[in-house]
Amino acid sequence: MKRKLQKIYWIGVICTLIMATIAVFMLIAFRIIDKNDSLISILETASGWTQAVDGDLNAHARSIAGVSPRLRVTFLMDSGFVLADSEGEAAEMSNHLDRPEIQAAINGEIGRSFRLSGTQSVFMLYAAKRVSDNLILRLSFPIEIITNALIVYTIGIIMLLVILIIFQKRAVLHITGAVATQIDDVRRTLEGEIETPKAVFSEFQPALDNISYQAKRLNSDLKEVRRTLSLRSDFVANASHELRSPLTSVMGFAEMLDEGLADTPEEKKMCIQTIRSECSRMLNVVEDVLLLSRAEREKDLIFKSVSVYEVANEIAQALSPQAAEKNIDLRVEGTLILYSVEKDIWEILYNLTSNGIRYGKKGGWVKICLKKDEIIVADNGIGIEEMHLPHLFEQFYRVDQSRDPSVRGTGLGLSIVRTLSQRNGGSVSVKSEYGKGSEFSVLFSNKQSPD
Ligand code: ADP
Repeated sequence: MKRKLQKIYWIGVICTLIMATIAVFMLIAFRIIDKNDSLISILETASGWTQAVDGDLNAHARSIAGVSPRLRVTFLMDSGFVLADSEGEAAEMSNHLDRPEIQAAINGEIGRSFRLSGTQSVFMLYAAKRVSDNLILRLSFPIEIITNALIVYTIGIIMLLVILIIFQKRAVLHITGAVATQIDDVRRTLEGEIETPKAVFSEFQPALDNISYQAKRLNSDLKEVRRTLSLRSDFVANASHELRSPLTSVMGFAEMLDEGLADTPEEKKMCIQTIRSECSRMLNVVEDVLLLSRAEREKDLIFKSVSVYEVANEIAQALSPQAAEKNIDLRVEGTLILYSVEKDIWEILYNLTSNGIRYGKKGGWVKICLKKDEIIVADNGIGIEEMHLPHLFEQFYRVDQSRDPSVRGTGLGLSIVRTLSQRNGGSVSVKSEYGKGSEFSVLFSNKQSPD
C-alpha cells in the first residue's frame, strides 16, 4: 500500500514537473524568436550602412552597437579573422571561421545561431551577413533570461523536490497510518469489540457500515452456534446421566440373579420386575430424546387443517386407563381447527395431558380447553412452586423428585411441547399455584395459516 501510494504520488510529481518544464522552455523559445527577428532587422539595416563606410571599422562597429543596449557588433574577413569588435580588442580575438553563422554568411546566406558563448558563459543569439567582398558583419545579443531562467528553474526544482519529499513522507505516513487504524477498527468490529468503526475517509463509510452489519450478523450467529453447542453438550451429559441410573440398577439386579443372591421366587420376580421397569424408563428417555432430535431436524413437514378437538378426544381415550387409575375426571371442552402438523398437535396434547394426570391428585380433574387459537390443559393437581416455572421447559428439568417418587418422568416432555409448539407457530406458557393446580397454554399465531 505504502509503495503504491508513493508510486502514484511520484507519477503525479513527475507529470507536473514535465508540464512546468515545457512551459518554461516555451517561454524561452518565444523570447528567442522575438529577439532573433529584431536582430535580423538590425543586421539588414546595419549592412546597408556598412557598404558606405570607409574609415575606422571599430568606431563603426560601436556606432551600430549603440542601436540596442547589449548588442555586440563584429567585423570579420572570409578567413574568420576578426577585423573590428564593438566590445573587445580585435587582435586578441580568436579566429571565428568555425562559427556556423560565419560559415553561412561566407556562403552568401544570412547566418543564424543560438548557443552558449564559450567566452561569456551566457546564451547568445548570433546573426551574420556578408556586407562586401571579404567583409562579414556579425551581430550578437546575450539572451540572459535563458541563463537566469535555467538557474531559477534548477533552484526551484531542487527546492520543490525537497518540499515534495518531506510532504510525501508525511502524507504517505498519514495515509498509511490512517488506513492501518481503519483496518484495526475493522478487526475489532469483526471481533465484536466495537459496534461501528468510524471512517477515516468518508468514502470508506458505506463499506464500513456494511462490514459492521455483517459483523453483527456473524457475531449473533456465532453466539447462537455456541449456545447450540453448549446445549448439545449439556444434552448429551444429561441424557447419559438419565440412562446411567437405570442401567446401574439393571446391572445390579442382573448380577443378583446371576450370583444366585435372589433365592426365593418372590425375590427373583422382584428383580425381574425392577429390571423391566428400569428398561422401560430407559426406553422412555431414548424415545423422548429421539423425538426431540427429530423435532429439531425435521424439515419437510406436512401442514394441514387439523381438528384439535378430535385429536384431544383420541388422547382422552388413550389416557383414560391412567386417569381411571387415579379416579381423575378427564374432559375435553370447546373446539378448534388449526392449520398445523397433526402428529405435533397429538404429541403436544399427549404430553400436557399425561403430565396433568401424572401430577394430578386422586379424585381430581384434568381439562383440555380448546379456544380460538389456543389450547389449554389445566388440572387441580399438586401444582408447581414459582421458582421452578422459568425452567420448566428446559431439557431434563424436573421439579424436586421427592414429591412423588412413583412419578418418574424424563424431564423432556415440556421441552418437546415447546419445540413442537414453536414449529407450528405457537408459544407455550404456564401458570401454576403450588398445591392447587397448573394451567399450560399453547397460543398459536395465524402465521401458519394457508391464507
Ligand atoms: P417429566 O417427564 O419429568 O414429566 P416434563 O418436562 O414433562 O418432564 O415436566 C417437567 C417437570 O414439570 C416435571 O418434572 C414436573 O415436576 C413438572 N410438571 C409438569 N407438568 C406438571 C403438572 N401438570 N403439574 C405439576 N407439575 C408438573
